[in-house]
Amino acid sequence: MAPGAISLPPSANGTDGTNGTKEIINGTNLPTKTQNGLPIPAGLDASKLIITKSPSPRAVPDAASAFATEDTICTDHMITCAWDRTRGWSAPELKPFGPFSLMPTASVLHYATECFEGLKVYRGFDGRLRLFRPDCNTRRFLRSAARVSLPAFDPDELEKLLVALVAFDGPKWLPRDEPGAFLYLRPALIGTQSTLGVCTPTKALLFVTLSYMKKMDSPGGLKLCTSPEDTVRAWAGGFGHAKLGANYGPSLVAAQAARDKGYDQILWLYGPEGYCTEAGASNFMVVWTDKESGKTQIVTAPLDDSIILDGITRRSLLQLARDRLGDEVEVVEKKYTMNEVIEAQREGRLRETFAVGTAYFVTPVSVVHHRGIDIHIDIGDGYGGKYALLFTQWLKDIMYGGEDHPWGLVVPEEA
Ligand code: PLP
Repeated sequence: MAPGAISLPPSANGTDGTNGTKEIINGTNLPTKTQNGLPIPAGLDASKLIITKSPSPRAVPDAASAFATEDTICTDHMITCAWDRTRGWSAPELKPFGPFSLMPTASVLHYATECFEGLKVYRGFDGRLRLFRPDCNTRRFLRSAARVSLPAFDPDELEKLLVALVAFDGPKWLPRDEPGAFLYLRPALIGTQSTLGVCTPTKALLFVTLSYMKKMDSPGGLKLCTSPEDTVRAWAGGFGHAKLGANYGPSLVAAQAARDKGYDQILWLYGPEGYCTEAGASNFMVVWTDKESGKTQIVTAPLDDSIILDGITRRSLLQLARDRLGDEVEVVEKKYTMNEVIEAQREGRLRETFAVGTAYFVTPVSVVHHRGIDIHIDIGDGYGGKYALLFTQWLKDIMYGGEDHPWGLVVPEEA
């Protein structure tokens, strides 16, 4: 195999490794297949991956310079794959990271036909690279795409492409002698059709970058400020449950106003009742002693009204709690209000609150500001209470190889 060539996942075999900069796997672009003279759109197919090595690979930045500028530093390569309604998905490409061109009239620029995902790749303490439940991300991505009229794809094929990019750039950008480090995978899908007029895109582009991301789960606890009374992040029947760019841009005004007042993120409330939903770009959980039953409960907003994102960290943490904490704790997915949180705090029943997500991991919340009052929550030595610490440890073990678990997908690397 050529130097730097990768082991692709099973369906992407057939590398005709050459010593040049370009490796073609199973041919070039997909021929348009036809039936009765009509084209059959091709499905996303990772085995058609075309690999073009970067002619000018960059130096891996040291810790001080990784976040020294506003530009997110990406690795040497990215994945792109074009789609059009007639031909379907083209052969995906793994190619040098860099800009691509779009027509100024592209659908995404005017009608927000965009969705994305976010997941990390971890360099384990056993020296191996792992993704955490990428199948959940690719399936959620598919649901998001459907919500905004973008094309469908086989999520397992996308997972193979994610693995291919990580296998290609991971060894250099996440060196084996730096266990505990991670990089961030950002798949995105945009409508590229250059027609002004509100219509379903007939052309789209899927791309995936691998980049640095700041560690957000630093000790000290998050300070949250509840959303302004006249602002709502998502609503029943809307698209809060989908990972669309259109959910995030409009949230920035409130987030900046909160920052200006010394808070880190918004705790988004919903409706006149003030239901707790999400904290910034993460799910939100409270641990309290239930007023009626006296039981310890982990409570978080439900998925059934489609207001919150079905976070993979949320889902994993609830599953672990159900599997491992047994009768000690009740897991409750239900609507609960800010007033109930305040009441629990006043009555000494509020034990912990934390934000959970890929970026924030499990970050304890130390303060929630609501309509003029600050509610303080104990975060122990800065890393959170009993349950935040337990979840952090369990998830870290899976992500960094401390525990052999089906949620940790090992990415193959050259020896
Ligand atoms: N909620 C929102 C709005 C988010 O953007 C995210 C992050 O992706 C989450 C929750 C947490 O989801 P996950 O655990 O899949 O990262």
